[in-house]
Amino acid sequence: MTTNRQYLFLLNLCPFVLCVNLQKICVNLSLESMPKVNKETCIGCGTCESICPEVFKIGDDGKAEVLPADYTALKDKIKEAADSCPVDAISAE
Ligand code: SF4
Repeated sequence: MTTNRQYLFLLNLCPFVLCVNLQKICVNLSLESMPKVNKETCIGCGTCESICPEVFKIGDDGKAEVLPADYTALKDKIKEAADSCPVDAISAE
């Protein structure tokens, strides 16, 4: 039998567990929409960085790299960057 004290514990715990699980779902969804740069084909022109600097940056190797960001919120700019890449090095959902 569950006591009042146990109910209080469960009530306090529940929102935390729910929040952690929602965060995991959000991270997974965000990672699913994470764009990828093919460094073999990237020529380091900087077009993607100029269109969407929140996500793309030219790294020390002279190639574009993907920064941590809210990819879902930036999906339109990411798509524009991918469409503008002269060598189709960016794959995006
Ligand atoms: S637009 Fe394409 S080729 Fe230019 S830096 Fe970005 S990924 Fe590389």
